[in-house]
Amino acid sequence: MQDTSSEVPHMERMEDKVIVNTEVKQKDPKEALVIAVTTRAIFDLEEEHQLFLAKGKEEYTKHQKTNEDKPLVAGTAFGFIKAVQTVNKKLLEKNPEEKSLFDVIVLSNNSPESGMRIVNSAKHYGLEISRFCFVSDEDSTQYLQSLSVKLFLSADRTDVCNALKRGVSAALIFQQEDVQATSMELRVVFDGDSVLFSDETDQVFRSKGLDEAVKYEKAMEAIPMGQGPILQFAIQLGKIRKKFGQEGSPIRTYLVTARSGRDMGVRAIRTLRQWGLIIDEAFFMDGAPKDAILAQIQPHIFFDDGVHNIKGALDIGIPSALVPCDC
Ligand SMILES: [Mg+2]
Repeated sequence: MQDTSSEVPHMERMEDKVIVNTEVKQKDPKEALVIAVTTRAIFDLEEEHQLFLAKGKEEYTKHQKTNEDKPLVAGTAFGFIKAVQTVNKKLLEKNPEEKSLFDVIVLSNNSPESGMRIVNSAKHYGLEISRFCFVSDEDSTQYLQSLSVKLFLSADRTDVCNALKRGVSAALIFQQEDVQATSMELRVVFDGDSVLFSDETDQVFRSKGLDEAVKYEKAMEAIPMGQGPILQFAIQLGKIRKKFGQEGSPIRTYLVTARSGRDMGVRAIRTLRQWGLIIDEAFFMDGAPKDAILAQIQPHIFFDDGVHNIKGALDIGIPSALVPCDC
């Protein structure tokens, strides 16, 4: 374990929140891709969360203070955060002046006192987190826009829904054990409908069935689909992806959709092209389960709005993020 006793982070007290600036070099939020994670998304805090629910804030804070120097176990989004950090290194190797970097911040409902364990844990693992925001408010998502957040990952469904309502790409992280070891390269898998794309075709499918959805797609083939809840993040990720060539890129992006390539693939591809969003690999599964292909890709994160797809991915240790479509 690293000795963190000599590194006292600077705490800045604002009216109702505390921001801890660590020694990590600040990035320009206008240029950077800001990702906000909550503590329960990045670390395994299930035991502590249960203590909080059963015995309240005071006991929870006491426990966290007592264990301040005991690093937390890595959680579901930990590997994803590590991987974006690797991409940052590659970007700076290419261009030491690069401004278009990933900037990770922790947004937490912990008090600064109970939050010290989180700061210490991040340091222990060498996580490059520029800001820790300990906010006491019920709805911490009110800060997402002023922090220029482009992706918010949380283990709390209400938080995720609030973020989506504010127009910020957001997804729900589930606590997972046995998260698969993944490659060094950052791999991100997106579902299509209701994730990158709007839910317009899903709505036709749900109300009128598959045949009508196929007919709808044929009729609309020349018209790009609407924007989905994760698109803003995907666009920003795509901009960083474009800084690297086809070979040796430290980022790989994937579309794994239930659409069939034959009947419903054209509009999807045309839409991505219209948006200028380059996806490295696309899988049109025609309704088949996604787990086998996910097991092969081994992504650091998989975004989907289908609970059954998320469950299949969780069962094989794929770090998964649900984009709720019923907020
Ligand atoms: Mg979908």
